[in-house]
Amino acid sequence: MKVEILEKCPACQSAAIEKYTEIPDFYFSREVFPIFFCKDCGLKFTQNRPAEEEIGRYYDSANYASHDSEKKYNLFSLVYKSARDYMLNQKFNLVRQFKPEWKKVLDYGTGEGYFTEYLLNKGKEADGIEPSQLARENFKKRTGKDLYPDLRELPEGKKYDAITMWHVLEHIHQLPQTMEQLVSRLNEKGVIAIAVPNQNSQDLREFGVHWAAWDVPRHLYHWEAGSLTKFMNSQGMKKVYSGQLPLDPFYIGMISAGYQGKSAISGLFKGLKSYFHGKSHPEEGSTLLSIWMKP
Ligand SMILES: [Zn+2]
Repeated sequence: MKVEILEKCPACQSAAIEKYTEIPDFYFSREVFPIFFCKDCGLKFTQNRPAEEEIGRYYDSANYASHDSEKKYNLFSLVYKSARDYMLNQKFNLVRQFKPEWKKVLDYGTGEGYFTEYLLNKGKEADGIEPSQLARENFKKRTGKDLYPDLRELPEGKKYDAITMWHVLEHIHQLPQTMEQLVSRLNEKGVIAIAVPNQNSQDLREFGVHWAAWDVPRHLYHWEAGSLTKFMNSQGMKKVYSGQLPLDPFYIGMISAGYQGKSAISGLFKGLKSYFHGKSHPEEGSTLLSIWMKP
C-alpha cells in the first residue's frame, strides 16, 4: 500500500514537526498511526497516512454512518434521520445569519448530498462536490441532479456567496492547494463555514485514545481553534464566528464509549457534559464550528 510520510507540516510547511502520540483505528483496520505535531502552527496530523488513491479501503462503506445511503427502517435510522434533518436546519440558519443575501452556495464534500439537496429545496443555486461515485449516483437517483466529482469540474469562473465544509477539512489530502482554490471561488465578503472535530474539547479529555473523532487514518488533521485560525488567516480569511454543533458531542460520546467497551448511555452522559462545556466555552466544543469571511 502507498503510504505518505510527511516531512513538513501539511498546513504551514514548517519542518519543525515531531511525534506527539499514537492512535489506533478502532473503527475499521485496528492499525496504529503516529500523530505528529507542528511546533510552528500547532496543527496535529496523521503520519504514515494512506495516499489519496488508497484511503477508500479504510472506509467500510456499509457502516460509515455519514456515507450510508441504505434504507434500514429501524429505530436507529429513524433517530439518525431526525437528527440529520435538525442539523441541516441548524447549519442553514447559521450560514444565513452571516450571509443573509446568499444565493450561490457550494457544499464541498457533500457526501450523500443532503445539505446540497436542502439548499436546492430552499431555493438556493447550490452545487455539491463529492469524490465518491456511489454517493453521486445516489444523489442523482434522489434529486435527478448531478454532483461534481472534483473542484476542477466546476463551471469556469463561477463564484459563490458561501462555501460549506461540514466535517470535510480533516479529510483533504491537498490541504493548502484545495483551500486556495476554494477561496478563489468565493465572492468578495463571501463566507466559508467549517466544522471539524476539536482537539481542545471536553470529550477528547474524557475519552483520550478512545475519542471517536481521532478516526485515523480517515482524519488526516486534528484541528483546534489556534491551528485552524493560523491556517485560515494564511489563506486570507477572517474569523467571524466560533461555536459548536449541538448533536455532535452525543454522537461522539456514544461511539467513544463503545470503543472503551462501555455502554452507549454512559457515552451519552459524557456527551451531555461536553455539550454544556462547549456552550460556555465556544472554542472547546466537541466540534469546532466556525465561519470565515473573505475581506
Ligand atoms: Zn504547521
